[in-house]
Amino acid sequence: MLPVITLIGRPNVGKSTLFNRLTRTRDALVADFPGLTRDRQYGVGQIGPKPYVIVDTGGIGTAPEGVEALMERQVLRAIDEADHLLFMVDARDGCSPEDIEISQRLRRLGKPITLVVNKSDSTDPTFATADFHRLGLGDPWPVSSTQGNGVRELIDRVFEQL
Ligand code: GDP
Ligand code: MG
Repeated sequence: MLPVITLIGRPNVGKSTLFNRLTRTRDALVADFPGLTRDRQYGVGQIGPKPYVIVDTGGIGTAPEGVEALMERQVLRAIDEADHLLFMVDARDGCSPEDIEISQRLRRLGKPITLVVNKSDSTDPTFATADFHRLGLGDPWPVSSTQGNGVRELIDRVFEQL
């Protein structure tokens, strides 16, 4: 069974863009993984030495995104079957009240989480991440999902923690 990495975050932070990048190197088809339901978007990807399953929790069917969506059954199930969560925030927007609320709820779930600061191409990466230390989710990791910066290292970090 491949490790399951699940993307969480409010709308427009770039979850689907990262999903596409993480599945680009392989056909984004979903193999037959027992135990995984089909009401969200799954992809198989490989960037480093090992393949993984990546899950995009947002914008599937009629499911809303953000804080409310986090408590919905299908998102809780997605979190439940995850081996690692990628909580994505937006460097352009900085730390929002919604980010704070989502991170509080995620912390309570007790799953391994990496805080991913996307759109770091829009500003200096050190500056981009500075605002997010207060979320209490460890060192924020800057990436650009559109340009690819930091993505390979992000996956390496996740595998180190699995
Ligand atoms: P989602 O709602 O979280 O799935 O976000 P999307 O993947 O749909 O992206 C929302 C918008 O942000 C789109 O216009 C993307 O092109 C843009 N975007 C995503 N990632 C990046 C990034 O790394 N840098 C920049 N500058 N824009 C990005
Ligand atoms: Mg999306």
